[in-house]
Amino acid sequence: SPAIVLFTQDLRVHDNPVLDAALADGPDVLPLFVLDDAITGTPFAAPNRMAFLADCLADLDASLRSRGGRLVVRKGSTAHEVKRLMAETGAARIHVAAGVTRHAAHREEELRAAFDDRLHVHGRSLTVLDPGAVTPTSRDHYAVFTPYLRAWSAVPGRKVLSAPARLDVPESASGTALPSYRAASPALPKGGESEGRRVWRRWVDGGGLAGYDEAHDALGADGTSRISPYLHFGCLSATEIAAQAAAAESAGAEAFVRQLAWRDFHHQVLAARPDCADTDYRKRGDTWVRDEAEAKAWREGRTGYPLVDAGMRQLAQEGWMHNRARLLTASFLVKTLRHDWREGAAHFLSLLVDGDIANNQMNWQWMAGTGNDTRPNRVLNPLSQARRLDPDGTYVRQWVPELSGLSDRDVREPWKVPKADRNGYPDPLVEPEDLTARYREAHG
Ligand code: FAD
Repeated sequence: SPAIVLFTQDLRVHDNPVLDAALADGPDVLPLFVLDDAITGTPFAAPNRMAFLADCLADLDASLRSRGGRLVVRKGSTAHEVKRLMAETGAARIHVAAGVTRHAAHREEELRAAFDDRLHVHGRSLTVLDPGAVTPTSRDHYAVFTPYLRAWSAVPGRKVLSAPARLDVPESASGTALPSYRAASPALPKGGESEGRRVWRRWVDGGGLAGYDEAHDALGADGTSRISPYLHFGCLSATEIAAQAAAAESAGAEAFVRQLAWRDFHHQVLAARPDCADTDYRKRGDTWVRDEAEAKAWREGRTGYPLVDAGMRQLAQEGWMHNRARLLTASFLVKTLRHDWREGAAHFLSLLVDGDIANNQMNWQWMAGTGNDTRPNRVLNPLSQARRLDPDGTYVRQWVPELSGLSDRDVREPWKVPKADRNGYPDPLVEPEDLTARYREAHG
């Protein structure tokens, strides 16, 4: 009898421990993806991610077909659909990857209640190391990154698994057609394992990995890998990427692998504290400002601070934002304007194609000072950030075209030029000398 392979955030055939385990018992498998009402009926199913997901499912189906199989897509509740499929096909086992979110925990509970020891949950699938694989003495997770990195780096990588050569899917398994969704952002990247592998290879072959230590902070250079959406949906395996990067043995590769450890770090925090998707990891007694006009200006990229606005406009256009811009736009909302991090995190999740509860919520908390930053009082200054990260204004000119004619200095401080030369670009929402005022008032 066949084994069900329940795909979740591991939409790939290469280095997939779940698929590999199911095929260990023979070629008869049922690759299944459920468009679960518990996600599709919520704001988490943002148009950009659903459009990307549709690409991922189409690509996975094509890869499975080239190996003699296909993807069965169902809509509804995961446990219910698995139960129906078992009845239809006589499947005896179900394999799934372990997840870290409340949704994943709930899904696993339901499957466990229904199928007990017929359910096989596999680790080292979504992250390089599983949450809890390394822990400090007498705690269930690391609260600080540096010791986590040290422990993480000492664990040998698991073997990278090859893609299966052949699988057989029973005829009796019925499913709905592959879905299609309309993206919100016009320049959204294309999803899927094939595209993810191309993006990664092109970046490595073009010198991106070797030069990562030098280029990853320069906003105008756009020097990061842009693989985050492929990691979020599991089109790329974090283990395979980490292994390939480690084998490159360059300073760039070392800096890059460190970022993959950050991803694992935030996942192990969320796995230990799933409530941190919406509650503070550390309570600091913050009272937040509520001001819809300010929030709207921030969302629309009209704060009057060019680097902040460039980031927010990149997010709207591409469904993706450079990491340094994410940090600065988040700092501006939570530290300068003193708005609740949940407001910013929700806006990011409504657009980010890589929008991920672990990485997004825990990075927002990090910047808000309620999370795992050992310097929770840091406030990023958009002016010094612009001098450091976008000295010639390349990034700002790309995303804030109304300022493109200004000099390198004026493009950082457009309030210093006459209004007529600013093509409608707004005055700053907060005076430059008051960038830290609200924060200092609250935290001394
Ligand atoms: P690269 O620089 O090429 O890094 C390679 C990979 O390492 C990334 O793809 C990502 O998986 C991981 N990584 C890098 N930096 C971080 C980090 N700080 N935390 C966790 N993982 C990291 N990342 C998401 O994947 N999803 C999110 O929803 C998300 N929200 C964020 C919100 C805020 C406020 C901030 C400050 C950061 C957020 N990040 C998020 C982390 C980071 O900005 C992105 O992973 C990165 O910009 C993706 O681009 P890249 O693939 O080119 O990264």
